[in-house]
Amino acid sequence: MPYQSPVRDFTFLFDKVVGLDQVSATEMFAEATAETVEAILTEAARLNDDILAPLRRNGDLHPAVLENGVVRTSPGFKDGYKAIAEGGWVGISAPEEFGGMGLPLAISTAFNDMISGACLSLGLNPLLTQGQIEALEHHASDEMKALYLPKLISGEWTGTMNLTEPQAGSDVGALRSKAEPLGDGTYAVSGQKIFISWGDHDLGGNVCHLVLARLPDGAPGTRGISLFMVPKYLPKEDGSLGAANSLRVVSLEHKMGLHGSPTAVMEFDGAKGWLVGAPHKGMAAMFTMMNNARLGVGVQGIGSAEGAYQAALEYALDRKQGKTPVEGPGGIIDHADVRRMLLTMKAEIFASRAIALACAVALDMGRATGEADWNARAAFLTPIAKAFGTDVGCRVSDMGVQVHGGMGFIEETGAAQFFRDVRVTAIYEGTNGIQAMDLVGRKMMDGGEQAYGLLEEIQSLAESARTSHAALAEPVWQAAETLREATEWMVGQEMNDRFAGSVPYLGAFARVLGGYYHLKAAIAEEGEAGPRHKLAQFYVDRLLPEHSALATHAMAGAEGLYALSIEELTGT
Ligand SMILES: Cc1cc2nc3c(=O)[nH]c(=O)nc-3n(C[C@H](O)[C@H](O)[C@H](O)COP(=O)(O)OP(=O)(O)OC[C@H]3O[C@@H](n4cnc5c(N)ncnc54)[C@H](O)[C@@H]3O)c2cc1C
Repeated sequence: MPYQSPVRDFTFLFDKVVGLDQVSATEMFAEATAETVEAILTEAARLNDDILAPLRRNGDLHPAVLENGVVRTSPGFKDGYKAIAEGGWVGISAPEEFGGMGLPLAISTAFNDMISGACLSLGLNPLLTQGQIEALEHHASDEMKALYLPKLISGEWTGTMNLTEPQAGSDVGALRSKAEPLGDGTYAVSGQKIFISWGDHDLGGNVCHLVLARLPDGAPGTRGISLFMVPKYLPKEDGSLGAANSLRVVSLEHKMGLHGSPTAVMEFDGAKGWLVGAPHKGMAAMFTMMNNARLGVGVQGIGSAEGAYQAALEYALDRKQGKTPVEGPGGIIDHADVRRMLLTMKAEIFASRAIALACAVALDMGRATGEADWNARAAFLTPIAKAFGTDVGCRVSDMGVQVHGGMGFIEETGAAQFFRDVRVTAIYEGTNGIQAMDLVGRKMMDGGEQAYGLLEEIQSLAESARTSHAALAEPVWQAAETLREATEWMVGQEMNDRFAGSVPYLGAFARVLGGYYHLKAAIAEEGEAGPRHKLAQFYVDRLLPEHSALATHAMAGAEGLYALSIEELTGT
């Protein structure tokens, strides 16, 4: 059974769990009615299931290569990309004024989830362009918008983000790339960037690099960084391609997975660039792109988990091994431990997908209403959506390998590819450790207000369901209470004590949010306890309890982490 986009799950989540109706009730997104959304998702599924999913193996077996300075992509990627661009899928949420569909980010988030299950490496390309569109929309001059946005939105041109340098990874402020004013309003950008996804390709059009670099009077650290548009070909006024810019791909990385996505070392040698936003305010502008990309990367994890789950389920139905304890199809699916793995995979995908879509809805509401509360909620949920979504991607695809047994370790089943491809999502776009520090640091500068607001919402739903859904509601209420205590502890600590517990704290928060959305799903299911209720019960009984251990870990402080000296760590 080839990959099938889970359209029914998306429509259920939108209608019953994350409240897309609030978004379509706003003037800005009035066109996003339930019928329109379903029609779009069905069409998106056709593209992903029929055209893109068959390309996944090509990307793995025939990685992008650098030949005579030109990057050649995997077989079929050119046609696959053409189908994405021609379908208008790059610009789902882009402004209509420049040719986009102007639909909520919630819809493009669902699309990004589907494309990640179908073909993660190719899907990364439009994801980066989407982020660039948003950064330009908010920070570029009108002239730059008029020139670049229509081409990016139509998919004729693609976008990249260039932050990382050998000495500047998580610490972006350590970058050394420079930009010298040329006196005509343009800049000469020089420096080396590493790990640049889709830094070059043969899909056609222009490759538009957004590059972080320092102006001569730029202060050290992140405060002195500016953002530049540095295109591969210098565009003429009418948008046609002019001379090649002074930049090149030095090499492509050999990676653990995601082979279909060319990851380039880029050399900018006095390349012509245009400032985006104000001088020295590059980080703010890049953050617009990064926030969008963080949610996008979160759903890369979730979509990959979906692909891995579908493959594991198919294998488990087919593979016979030993006598099973129950009446059923007779495959390994009837063994209790295999059921445990499959249910865990399904329940985790649901929880993480609900969190990501709730984050997208908050972003859409913030945009449509301008209300600070929605923006603050979106900001709080973004690191959780990114880190939990990608952790689920890694864990679920790992379980996918396990369900396959030895055949999971053999490449021809494709189970290992899901695992290898998704691994980087927990690393790029800010490692999951950096996401967790963002959650307990910057996102709790409000004294925990957002966290408490969410916990109240969870407890109030749990209270209202105490009679009708006691076996779900009570544990969810209790878990929220434990998390409230951990939150109180967290906001009262010095930063390094918070950081020491940030990853388990984020994990505990995601666990509780997952319980909340599973409870909502169970409540929404009409009639007798159906599959959503049963899945929620599985989650609440077997996965939610982890929140308690995570909260304990979160509150342990930093001191113990430094208890072993470096000599003791190294055994010297
Ligand atoms: C396949 C791939 C594609 C990529 N695509 C792009 C791209 O398109 N554009 C781009 O600009 N970059 C890209 N990157 C780079 C990516 O964003 C970085 O790898 C990532 O941000 C981590 O930086 P680093 O690799 O230097 O790790 P480091 O920063 O050296 O981190 C190493 C470890 O230390 C931890 N750490 C670092 N600093 C701290 C801190 N202050 N507190 C606590 N822990 C810390 C990290 O969490 C991590 O566990 C890509 C990377 C890969 C592998």
